Amino acid sequence: MGTYKINCIGVLTSGGDAPGMNAAIRSVTRTAIFNNIRVKAIYRGYKGLILDEIKEFQTQDVSNIIQHGGTILKTARCQEFETPEGRKQAYETMQREEIDALVVIGGDGTLTGARLFAQEFNVPIIGIPGTIDNDLWGTDSTIGYDTALNTIMQCVDKIRDTATSHERLFFVEVMGRDAGFLALNSAIAAGAEAAVIPERQTSVEELEDLMRNGIRKSKNSSIVLVAEGGGGAQGLADRIRQNFPNYDVRVSILGHLQRGGSPSAFDRILASCMGVAAVDALLDEQRSVMIGVVNNEIVHVPFAKAIKDDKQVRPEKISVLQILSI
Ligand code: ATP
Repeated sequence: MGTYKINCIGVLTSGGDAPGMNAAIRSVTRTAIFNNIRVKAIYRGYKGLILDEIKEFQTQDVSNIIQHGGTILKTARCQEFETPEGRKQAYETMQREEIDALVVIGGDGTLTGARLFAQEFNVPIIGIPGTIDNDLWGTDSTIGYDTALNTIMQCVDKIRDTATSHERLFFVEVMGRDAGFLALNSAIAAGAEAAVIPERQTSVEELEDLMRNGIRKSKNSSIVLVAEGGGGAQGLADRIRQNFPNYDVRVSILGHLQRGGSPSAFDRILASCMGVAAVDALLDEQRSVMIGVVNNEIVHVPFAKAIKDDKQVRPEKISVLQILSI
């Protein structure tokens, strides 16, 4: 691999969109051009790689995008890429377009696909973690997570106004099928009473205890954050209603608004630094690694580790929430 020269990098966004992806696209594009490397933007994730939806980018193509949520490259879920034939087509597109290496921005599915593709065709690929879920191992934060956390916090603040006025109990459902980072940390940030997260069994009995012993004694409203993977806010609310008919229980499912909005300063800076690091990593002949940030330092995490799916919520965060919700 020593003499392998990279003349052209392809960049794509894939999986769920996340605020800050545009800042990452901008960073990859400009860092490549800064290093005299051509950049080809691939639209709609792996779908565009298979179907050859590609446009060469100049530095002005990424002007005025850092402040926007979503992704100017669009994103897609692409089942064809999960088949060997699909990946072969993708490789043929790369050859035709003379793309020597890829930077892929997405979540664990995106990196799983990248890992396979790199193995099969010996393609240099660097991953950038772009997902609001923060569920990739080896990085303190993923691009989009901080913005989503702030969005949820602002929503819960508003829900609290109405919850307090009517003495209501609110279950607020947030994204995170397999990961409770958003639910737990937004619960702390918004001063909620509890969080129901997939990493930790929270029985309905436990919640009922919490309500019996604490909530109604000292407070006139309560908010519980529920990760969508934790059993669903609606189901929990139904159980509580059965056992506590006097409580005015309401459910609010935040849904897609959690993905939108202008990225926070934190996510813009994270994305900018990760984009530079991704191109640098390619030039240093790194392969099949995700860029991560740990304790403010850039790290390179092998794809296999990043996707192994055992990033844990910190137990002390659960204690913080419990202590502060008395
Ligand atoms: P998010 O976490 O925000 O949902 P993601 O990257 O995990 O983002 P997915 O839909 O899981 O989103 O994956 C994105 C794309 O990656 C898939 O549509 C598919 O093209 C590719 N991909 C996922 N898993 C595999 C796999 N096992 N083999 C090949 N490609 C895959």
